[in-house]
Parts: sequence; structure tokens; C-alpha cells
Amino acid sequence: MIIKNNKDEFASYLTDAANFKGAAEAVYFPESEDDIFKLLEMSRAKKTPVTISAARTSLTGSAIPQNGIILSMEKLNKILKIDAERKKVWLQPGVTLADLHEALAERKLFYPPDPTERNCTIGGTAATNASGAKTFKYGATRAFVDSLKIILSSGRKIFIERGKIFADNGKITIPILSGGNLEIVLPDYQMPPVKNAAGYFVKKNMDAIDLFIGSEGTLGVITEIVLRVIDFPEEIVSGVVFFQNERDAFSFVEEAREQSYLSREKKTASEIDALALEFFDSGSLKFLSEDFPNIPPEAEAAVWFEQDVKLSERENITEKWFEAIELNNGDAENSWIAMSLKEREKFKNFRHAVSVKVNEYVASKGLRKVGTDAAVPDGKMRKYFYESKKIIVESGIKFIVYGHIGNSHFHFNMLPENEKEFSAAKEIYAKLCDLAVKMGGTISAEHGIGKLKRDYFLKMCGEKAIRQMAELKKQFDPFLILNPGNIFEKKYLIQI
Ligand SMILES: Cc1cc2nc3c(=O)[nH]c(=O)nc-3n(C[C@H](O)[C@H](O)[C@H](O)COP(=O)(O)OP(=O)(O)OC[C@H]3O[C@@H](n4cnc5c(N)ncnc54)[C@H](O)[C@@H]3O)c2cc1C
Repeated sequence: MIIKNNKDEFASYLTDAANFKGAAEAVYFPESEDDIFKLLEMSRAKKTPVTISAARTSLTGSAIPQNGIILSMEKLNKILKIDAERKKVWLQPGVTLADLHEALAERKLFYPPDPTERNCTIGGTAATNASGAKTFKYGATRAFVDSLKIILSSGRKIFIERGKIFADNGKITIPILSGGNLEIVLPDYQMPPVKNAAGYFVKKNMDAIDLFIGSEGTLGVITEIVLRVIDFPEEIVSGVVFFQNERDAFSFVEEAREQSYLSREKKTASEIDALALEFFDSGSLKFLSEDFPNIPPEAEAAVWFEQDVKLSERENITEKWFEAIELNNGDAENSWIAMSLKEREKFKNFRHAVSVKVNEYVASKGLRKVGTDAAVPDGKMRKYFYESKKIIVESGIKFIVYGHIGNSHFHFNMLPENEKEFSAAKEIYAKLCDLAVKMGGTISAEHGIGKLKRDYFLKMCGEKAIRQMAELKKQFDPFLILNPGNIFEKKYLIQI
């Protein structure tokens, strides 16, 4: 196993896409499960904290340690098998999303969960229950994970297949591969009824696999994953629609959303049924205008939509989208409709570029990202947007808003110029989290909690729930060595 002890050699492992900084003694690069067993054995003996690191595209500091050692998953990066008939893929966790997409496309298969950043790994996305534009139709990573192999900090190995082990009466029994069972007592808190990636997934009669998806590496090391995939869409209708005000953009989204839900209910393929609905405010459009000069200068908002369709429905569906654009005062003449795969990719890059530019901006100021990840119930979407915007406008701090509006999920990104504004931006961030929670939403719909959002999460779910989460972790990781500090502060693992 390769080990890097020299800090100059592993500096890049001490920061993530949010510019969160950490510290570690060394980075280990296991090439097999056996290497992971040995590494955990050593860590148990020395009580050394182990932080699992994949591509470090996380925006929460979850893969960045504060001390101890780093376990990098990047050498475990093989696609083990693709079964096109059963539509399943076996892979090691270090496979990147980009590599998976490429391998699937060759077989006309498709994996819908698409966090905007394609350099992330499948292990990272399972550990954070990542989601993206296509979550509006297909759900988050959770919906596509069929089984997981996991090594616990004790060195025990478990294999969990979806549909095989369920909770009963607040408890769950998980077989250990070498013999015996883990009898786990589950927390009893309620998760908000919105797109959510905050804290452990807990539900009455839940499937055991869902405990691990989104657990941010705190319960075990995922060493193998089986994913469900679908047929590659025959065709995708895709467009970026510009509006002269946000209200019209919201009306367009609400109409498309309603029609989509109706189409799904009726199981019809000849009406609007959006795959993705993504929002950009005027600030985001200005941010992007240098790289995309054909953005209409008077546009105050834009919505990127996609719909997967049968080839025979392409024209009909395109027409339906044009009707919705016109009905909601969209700029039909200057909007972009993709006529080729290349153009579709351009729209995807348009969405990706805005996130990247924000990350680059904050890094260039030597600051950390201050961007919300909150989602609210659909009926509160507009109220949440306008009240949040008012709070930031009054502060005078620059900001832009974009996000997965189909799921009523916005990223308000503050753009502070200096430390003073950074502190003010953090206060605004807290207010926006409070507002989302007050409206029945979550403070994190997709990025997770990591180390950056613990305080807000504590406020969201209360101390009792946090203590239950700490108890849950301790049942899987009694040595308290795996990813300490993620989701809740370490002190909750020690105090009862
Ligand atoms: C420009 C940009 C846009 C983004 N857009 C989105 C978006 O739309 N939606 C979204 O959900 N996220 C988004 N992200 C965040 C990020 O891409 C996701 O959180 C991603 O899932 C992280 O994957 P990773 O491989 O980089 O994992 P890392 O960042 O390395 O790790 C993330 C977490 O997973 C744990 N982990 C990693 N591998 C394993 C394993 N094998 N076993 C157990 N735990 C493990 C780590 O310990 C850590 O807690 C974006 C990031 C960027 C930079």
C-alpha cells in the first residue's frame, strides 16, 4: 500500500471544493480490502482517527480531517462488471461518475443521479446521497444503490442488499459476514418531508441499506457498490429559457412541475414530464455572461429544463415546452433549445460553470464558501426565495442564486469580499437556514452536513436527535475512529 508521510506531497488532501482546510499525519492508498483491514487494525490499536477521502469535491469539509490519517479510496477505482440485461453495475467506490457514464454510454445504459460535479466518485456520492438536476424525476443516489459491501472500524465486514433487511420496532439486525449479528437500535427522529441529505436516514420499517447511504463515512468504509441503471434515453429535449423577471420563471417552473407530476400519475409519455428544472438568477447570468456571451442582456432569470423522450415524441414534446414558455412570458425567441448532443452538453456545462465560478471566487479571496443548500416544501418555494433574498439584499453583500428549483432547492451563494463580509455572510447563512427549517424544510438537501454545517444541523433537529445519531454511530464504530467530526461534533460521542 502506498503511504504518503510528507505533508508537501499530500497538501491537496487537506482541502476540499469549499476551501475547508484540515490537517493529517499521512495519507494511505489501499489497493484491496485487505489493505483496509490492516489500516483499520493499526488505527484501532493506536486510536488514530481515520478520515475517508475520495475525490474531495465535497462542499462541507466531510472528507477533510482535523487530525489522524487519511484513507484515500482513489486506487479502488475499477468497474467490476456491467450486466446490461439486468441493468446492474458492480464497482469499486473510487470509480468516478465521469468514468461510469462513459462505460455505460458504450452499452446504451444510463445512471441518472448526477451531482453537477462529474469528477466525484461513486463511493463519495453514496456516502453523501448526492443528487443533482435529474433528481427531480429520478430521485437521489439512494434510489439507485442496490447493495453495499462495508468494512466497519472493528474490521468486521457486512454486505447489505436492498430489499433484504428491514427495521422492526425501532431495531435492525444486520448479519456480519464472518458470523453473528449486529443488533442496532435506531433513532426515532422525523426527517423533513423534502429533498434531504442532512443526518442519518431514519424511517419506520426502513431498509438497512438506507442507513449507510448519506452517512458521510461515519459508519463504515464502503468497499463495493452495486448500482441499478436504466436504458439510455432515446432522446432528450433540452432548453435554457430566459425571463425578464423571476416571477415568470417561477410560474413556468410551477406549471412544468405540476404537469410533470400529472404525467407521472397518468403514466403518459406525450406530455411535459421534466427530467430537470434548474434556476439561475440575474446575478448568476451576469457571472456566466463572459463565458456565454449569447445570454440576452435584459434577462433577469433563466430556467434550464430537460425531458427524456421517445424519438417519436420529440417534436410534440418540444412544442409543449414552447407553449409553456409562451404562456409564462418566457423569451421564446432568444431562448436556447438544444438541437444536438453537443448543445445539450453546453447547457450542462452552463450549469456546472456557475458552481465552479463561485468556488473559484471564494478561493481567490482566501475565504470559504458560504452557500446555502436548503430545500423547502413546494408550496413555500416563492416565499422562501423572496424572504431569503430580502435578507441578503438588506445586508449589501453580493450574492447569486441558482439551484435545483424542481425540488424547491436553492443555492444562495454569498460573495464576500473580505473577512468582515465573510462573517456577515455566515450570519445571513444562519438566518436562511432558520427560515428553511421554520417553513418545514431542511438546511441540506444534497451536500450533507460534514464539519461546516454541524451548528445549523444541531439547530434544525435539536440536541436529542443529535445524541441519538451519536449513539447510532457508536454501535457501528465503538472505537470512534471513523470520520470523527462529521454530522455532529466529537463531544457527543463522549458525553451521554
Ligand atoms: C462544482 C461542484 C458542484 C457540485 N454540485 C453538487 C450537486 O449538484 N449535488 C450534490 O449532491 N453535490 C454536489 N457537489 C458536491 C460533491 O460533488 C458531492 O458531495 C460528491 O458526492 C462528493 O464525492 P467525492 O467523491 O468527491 O467525495 P469526497 O468529497 O471525497 O467525500 C465526501 C464524503 O464521502 C465520504 N466517502 C467517500 N468515499 C467513501 C467510501 N468509499 N466509504 C465511506 N465514505 C466515503 C467521505 O469521507 C466524505 O464524508 C458539487 C461539488 C462541486 C465542486
